[in-house]
Amino acid sequence: MKLRQIPSNLAPGTKALVRVDYNVPLKGSDNNIHVTDTMRLERSLETLKFLMDQKATLILVSHLGRPKGQVKPELSLQPVAKALSKLLESPVVFCPETKMDQIFKFVESQPTGAVILLENIRFFEGEKKNDPRLAKELASLADIYVNEAFSAAHRSHMSMIGLPKYLPAYAGFGLKKEVEALYQLMTKPKLPLVVIVGGAKISDKVEAVEYLAKIANIVLVGGGVANNFLAADGYDIANSYLQDAPAEMKKEGKNYIDLAEDLIEETRKERVLKDNYIPLPKIIYPTDVLAASSLSSKKSQVIELCDQKNDFKQSKNLMYLDIGPKTIRLFKEVILSAGTVFWNGPMGAFENEVFSHGTKEIAKAVAKSGATTIIGGGDTIAAVDQLGLADRFDYVSAAGGAALAFLSGKTLPGIEPLIVDCK
Ligand code: ADP
Ligand code: MG
Repeated sequence: MKLRQIPSNLAPGTKALVRVDYNVPLKGSDNNIHVTDTMRLERSLETLKFLMDQKATLILVSHLGRPKGQVKPELSLQPVAKALSKLLESPVVFCPETKMDQIFKFVESQPTGAVILLENIRFFEGEKKNDPRLAKELASLADIYVNEAFSAAHRSHMSMIGLPKYLPAYAGFGLKKEVEALYQLMTKPKLPLVVIVGGAKISDKVEAVEYLAKIANIVLVGGGVANNFLAADGYDIANSYLQDAPAEMKKEGKNYIDLAEDLIEETRKERVLKDNYIPLPKIIYPTDVLAASSLSSKKSQVIELCDQKNDFKQSKNLMYLDIGPKTIRLFKEVILSAGTVFWNGPMGAFENEVFSHGTKEIAKAVAKSGATTIIGGGDTIAAVDQLGLADRFDYVSAAGGAALAFLSGKTLPGIEPLIVDCK
């Protein structure tokens, strides 16, 4: 998959509409709102500087939160302009207008080479609806379109798919890097490919896991997601967390335990040899867990799940909240022999120190594995950040839903207009 690169010979004064993702966390109120995490801003800098070096005028378009087509002052991008200006070490002018003619006047009044951040694009009704009129009007402000918002690439919104209909469209450097990292993982990963999934939300991940399970050598399952696999394999998971199935799944009489069962069944005959002689199943879920009566418990107990199958009586009040020591050992061994690791989802309820051990150990093993490592997921990133390991991975994907949609083999609407047609 080849994406169209931003030209390096733009005429000075070229107006570039750049779709960025500045959907960042904010804190404070009234005139004292500030950005608490600038990672997304930092990731766009290479593209912005590349355009600025060519004396382009930049018109930045982003969404923030879910204002549902209405002006919501608390979701204004104004504080973002300030934070961006600091990072760029150059002025960023914020355009507060939400009427098209006013936006035109504002942009016209700025000097060549200015960096202008438009107000939250989701204040406009036409954004989510992909209104062609809005796209056409906005596009007429500029000469080229650059997409630097991979995390919104699964959305068919005006700023993702409408604008590139009217302007020559290019991929921003960050978007390109992310697509290339994920594409490489899906098409020619260095083997063995080890996929690790965890966390609470199996709904987000199940399609990617189904796809990746086909190409992976081993899938390690931890966190709340593992409960579905344990239940599918006949273990008693007591009071452990299970995500409820969405209505359309329920209508078909299915839940996530059924999906886990299907996956186990599909891969039942596949075996991977550890140390060249120990056969392991392709999908591995915990053999032991840390359990407690609540997420905030200060104490935990190890439960050996194979004992449980041998008529172990356990308290119905227990929740499985982290992977146990034996599972950690096995997962680490597998990870250390990997050629590529993709990891999404913490191994336990890591926010409580008592259940953070599995996630810590897995994070450390992935970091030192020597494999090509890609991690994703908001909470997974938060966990590795906490451990100071974030810069030890080859690629940290902040794209959440878009990355998972890409990894489930879908063509993303926001990427399509950026692909070089090789026909
Ligand atoms: P990510 O954001 O990395 O994709 P998720 O949002 O799916 O991950 O899940 C993260 C959450 O999962 C964390 O808040 C963590 O506490 C929770 N979690 C992990 N393991 C368990 C478990 N065994 N039981 C309940 N919650 C869990
Ligand atoms: Mg999350």
